[in-house]
Amino acid sequence: MENVDVLVAGAGIWGCTVARRLAEQGKRVLVWERRPVVGGNVRCETDPETGIEVHRYGSHIFHTHDDAAWNFVRRFVEFNGYQHKVLARHGDKTYFLPLGLALVNGFFNVNLTPAELPAFMADETRKKAIFDAFFRGYTSKQWGKPPEEIDSSIIKRVPVRASWDVNYFNDVRQGIPLTGYNSLFERMLDHPNIRVETSRALTLADLADFGKVYYSGPLDALFDYKFGHLPWRTLRFETETKDVADWQGTSVVNYVDAEVPYTRIHEFKHYHPEQKDVMACGKTVIMREYPATWKPGDEPYYPVDTAESRALVEKYREEAAKYPALVIGGRLGEYKYYDMDQSVSRALACCG
Ligand code: UDP
Repeated sequence: MENVDVLVAGAGIWGCTVARRLAEQGKRVLVWERRPVVGGNVRCETDPETGIEVHRYGSHIFHTHDDAAWNFVRRFVEFNGYQHKVLARHGDKTYFLPLGLALVNGFFNVNLTPAELPAFMADETRKKAIFDAFFRGYTSKQWGKPPEEIDSSIIKRVPVRASWDVNYFNDVRQGIPLTGYNSLFERMLDHPNIRVETSRALTLADLADFGKVYYSGPLDALFDYKFGHLPWRTLRFETETKDVADWQGTSVVNYVDAEVPYTRIHEFKHYHPEQKDVMACGKTVIMREYPATWKPGDEPYYPVDTAESRALVEKYREEAAKYPALVIGGRLGEYKYYDMDQSVSRALACCG
């Protein structure tokens, strides 16, 4: 296409990082986004009634150990210093995750010190009790199969500590953009070398029109599911406005019991404690999250890492390799459970 050096198809965090980086290298970048708005699954909407920033596709907290990713995103937005904590409702009690002194002492009604915790938890019966209470039900709901059948790296995302630290992440660099996530994407794309066209999806036929194409939509969708669809997990959300200033007292409560049909409830105003007016408003927005098996027409959110899915991904990658102009990335494109910062790092790396 004339006046375009590269096409970036998909304006999520990977695509926007690629677009910006290439634009700054002097490339003329055209961005196509399938949806009418940019931001991918990090997209937010400001609730008109309360001013609350609602994470349209579930909670997103930027957290990282990687200086390059952190320095890159902070060129566009300032972060508010929010530190993520997650509570877990089990039975009629609420506990602090992750697995540490707060959880163990609360669950077993003991008062262990850091030095005492490892020996106490070496007991297999106790280990099993904790696992069955906090991981078995949640994992079965989230992945549609028992924890024994999923890759152990997934559960290991949740830290284990012998301290009272209840920060959900080990990353000290953490927060929510003060001006909201949408401003991050809009500012990344605000460059004289970038032109954005929304409601525009890439097809294989378009590849011939561009010298280079960076794609971050679902890997299987690009090839029209010719080898069958990858086993994605999707999510359904139920959003509700409550006539109370504070409904659950925190941003995320996980409902870890199998009998509760949803996995967690988000209460978005807690992501912006600095927004005093929004916090004081007598209403709040909550969102229940229900995981499900992806079927055609659903949004894909999570890749399901199994031996079969890896083999299928490999087949699609071999197919993709037939198109030398094509670079595929992001969570959906690589079929990898990347966090936002990992997508930024990988995008920066692939642009040189
Ligand atoms: N997990 C769990 N119970 C919890 C929280 C997490 O069993 O209360 C397991 C579950 O399998 C989940 C994984 O740990 O998919 C990773 O959790 P994380 O909070 O990182 O998931 P995300 O926020 O990315 O959906």
